Parts: sequence; C-alpha cells; structure tokens
Amino acid sequence: MTKIGFIGLGNMGGPMAANLAKAGHEVTATDLSDAAIKRAVEAGCTAGKTVADTVSSADIVVTMLPAGAHVRSVYLEDYGVLANAKDGALLIDSSTIDVDSARDVNAAAAAKGFQMVDAPVSGGVAAATAGTLTFMTGGEKSAFDRAHPILDAMGKNIFHAGGAGNGQVAKIANNMLLGITMIGTCEAFNLAEKLGLDAQTFFDISSTASGQSWSMTSYCPAPGPVEAAPSNRDYQPGFAAGMMLKDMRLAQEAAHKAKAATPLGAQAEALYALMESAGRDDLDFSGVMKLINGSL
Ligand code: NAD
Repeated sequence: MTKIGFIGLGNMGGPMAANLAKAGHEVTATDLSDAAIKRAVEAGCTAGKTVADTVSSADIVVTMLPAGAHVRSVYLEDYGVLANAKDGALLIDSSTIDVDSARDVNAAAAAKGFQMVDAPVSGGVAAATAGTLTFMTGGEKSAFDRAHPILDAMGKNIFHAGGAGNGQVAKIANNMLLGITMIGTCEAFNLAEKLGLDAQTFFDISSTASGQSWSMTSYCPAPGPVEAAPSNRDYQPGFAAGMMLKDMRLAQEAAHKAKAATPLGAQAEALYALMESAGRDDLDFSGVMKLINGSL
C-alpha cells in the first residue's frame, strides 16, 4: 500500500485514480471540479482540498491534466507540487503534453531533489476504466522502476522509452503515424468504392495484403468490416478528432523545433483541423472518412 496524491480527475484521471484505490493504495485526489472529487471519493479515494493538501504526505504523485500549461502551473507555482511534496516523493505526469514542457518540469523537479517520469498513455476512457492503458515512460531507469508497480495498477503495457520527455516523444510520434494511416485508409476505401469495389471485399483483400494496418483491421473507417469500429456507430468516439488534432499539433510543434521533415504529418494536421473548423471534431478521428468522401 502506497500513499498516492492524484491531481486531475477528468475523463481519464477519474478512472485511473479509482483503479489505484481499488488496488489497495491510499489515494488522496483533487481537481478544480467538486463533482470530479465527489466521484473519486465514491470510488474509494480521499478528497484533497488543495494541491498542497493532496501531495504533502504522498510517496507518489500522479497528475493527469489537459496540456503543458496546466502541468507547468500545477508543478512549478507556489501552490503546486514541487513546493509542497514530501522529500523523496516520486512524481509521475501522465498528461499528453509538449516535449519541452515535460523536459523543463522534469529538470525543475530534479533541481529540487525529486525523481520524475513523464508517462503519457495510449488507450482512451475504456482502457483507463479497465486498467489496460499503455504507458510510454521517459525518465531515469531507477525512476521508471519505482513507477512501474503504480503504472501496473492502471495499465497493461508499460514501456521505458529513455530519458526525460521520451515518453511524450513516443506518444506523439505514434499518434502522428496513426493519424496519417487513418487518412490513407479512408482514401483507399473511398477510391475503391468510387471505382465499384465494395468495402467488405476491399477489406478482405487489403487486410491480408500490403495495405494492412491497425487503422484498417482494428478500427476500419468504412462501415461494415470491423463490427466494434466507430464507423458502425456513426463515428461516435472512441478517440475524438479534436484529441487527435491536439496530438498532431504537438507533433508538428516538436518537428519544427527538431527540424524533422514531416510533410504527411503536416497534411494530416490540416485535415483534422478542417474537421474542427466544420464543428465536427467531436466525431471519432476515423470520421475523417466523412471529410474525404464529402459527407461531413
Ligand atoms: P479532462 O479535461 O477530462 O480532465 C482534465 C482534468 O484536469 C479536469 O477535470 C480539470 O478540472 C483538471 N484540472 C485542470 N487544471 C487543474 C488544476 N490546476 N488543479 C487540479 N485539476 C486541474 O481530460 P482527459 O480526457 O482526462 O485527458 C487528460 C490527459 O490525457 C490529456 O493530456 C489528454 O490529451 C490525455 N489523453 C486523453 C485520452 C482520452 O481519450 N480522453 C486518451 C489518451 C490521453
């Protein structure tokens, strides 16, 4: 049993904190939303009144916040984690944020004697609830080893991606690839249909040929072939196009700074941004099919 302070009880953090409590840890949890704290208490956590109150006696702090600005604020400001955590506490940030913020906050933590890992996740609310998330972790190996049993209570696949920020690097590179393959898959199904080849037949052929990808076989954007795919529920998420756009933007920001050429990543970002400007970024990201076939 470990004393854990958990900050950020939204769609993902709520069920993650609940799984830590279910695993027998003593979890103090806080959020800006009273309703979110109430749900965490119902799931076995103790309510933290403030960030300081939440972290001051915790051996491990976990944060699950929207973006880099929130993480910088929660860790670096006077009310925050670094100013109030117990000496020797291990800090785990599971938010998806820009690589620079992850590395800056990690360095600030190290300067105060704290070990920290960035541990963004793959898998949505369903995986957070089931405790089957994939964690991509950046930070010192000894910090990763300390975090492992805690991440285990919330996830299934736990990877060490290297030094500070490398968890975020793995996350945005993976999601950039996913965003691109999804659009390519939509184009292929649309082309096949326009030329008179139905989705199921094309799927049967391409899913066993060289066009195969996760976007096709697990999440097919054309209705029909993959029963559980959002395309069969009028593209209800799943993983919303707006969240994919956030990750594509993080990838482009990092690519510019690193001078990495990502021409298809840039195109993919632009297409998901069109879903946003059409007011349809609430659809699953595979709903980019509707943009491609003109039905958005
Ligand atoms: P969310 O907006 O539902 O939750 C974020 C929570 O943080 C909110 O409840 C908010 O009140 C709280 N918060 C913000 N500032 C705070 C502060 N100063 N103190 C305390 N609480 C504060 O977001 P989410 O869907 O849970 O996503 C969290 C992170 O996980 C994001 O970085 C997101 O990109 C990433 N992620 C989400 C999914 C998904 O499917 N939702 C999947 C993978 C990764």
